[in-house]
Amino acid sequence: MIPKNHPRYESLMLRNRIAEGVKQGMVHPTGLIAHGRGEAFDYLLGERTQSFADDAARAAAAYLKIAKKPVISVNGNVAVLVADEIVKLAEETGMKMEVNLFHRSEERIRKIIAFLEEKGGNDILGIEADARIAGLSHDRALCSSEGIYAADVILVPLEDGDRCEALKRMGKVVVTVDLNPLSRTARSADVTVVDNVIRAIPNIREHYTTVDKPDEVVEMWDNKTHLQMALDFICERLRTYYR
Ligand code: ATP
Ligand code: MG
Repeated sequence: MIPKNHPRYESLMLRNRIAEGVKQGMVHPTGLIAHGRGEAFDYLLGERTQSFADDAARAAAAYLKIAKKPVISVNGNVAVLVADEIVKLAEETGMKMEVNLFHRSEERIRKIIAFLEEKGGNDILGIEADARIAGLSHDRALCSSEGIYAADVILVPLEDGDRCEALKRMGKVVVTVDLNPLSRTARSADVTVVDNVIRAIPNIREHYTTVDKPDEVVEMWDNKTHLQMALDFICERLRTYYR
């Protein structure tokens, strides 16, 4: 048991959830490493939604508003961290959920689908894998013809850079949540919310209900500038922290 007054209570709880997820067979062991990398960047970002991340969450919501076939790609980490919020976002936006794993295993997909269903999710795609993402080899390419394959806008939190680039080459609009502003995923996406998925998904939901003139928001969005703002923030914090 982690005492509630522990100064790093929240971070430790999240870490526990990922570790439990591995035990339950929903998170691949490499998911632990991905989480640790995320934690390091979250520390640098002050473990809060900074204003540039809030702007990106609004742009993400705007893209979801104008999408005809939005899909969210869910992996093990995302499921154990924010399943409830994902299910609600899907309900509110009409977005389909697809469980799509970098280290594909049918057993893990079934477990994650069952977990999302427990949280109230319906019609979750992923098991059928009847289409392929072009330009990727092996199981990493498999996806659902009704889901990722047909989507115009894809929300892929915590995605691998290779797959993100492949989705871009297929002409998709890619929206990601990634704490590392330097990752290939962050750099190749159309919108990168540089924030912890635990804060970013509820924030996207909030913006979805309030965003005005989504086509203008999308038109104005410049992801590179936004990523530079995230890097500037980190640099400034590092340069002045003990001064
Ligand atoms: P890329 O393949 O895009 O170059 P990578 O290989 O460094 O990135 P991956 O392991 O493929 O990283 O993906 C994990 C990414 O998700 C990392 O960039 C990490 O910072 C980020 N990440 C991990 N946990 C979270 C979280 N809770 N919220 C947001 N981002 C996270
Ligand atoms: Mg990677």
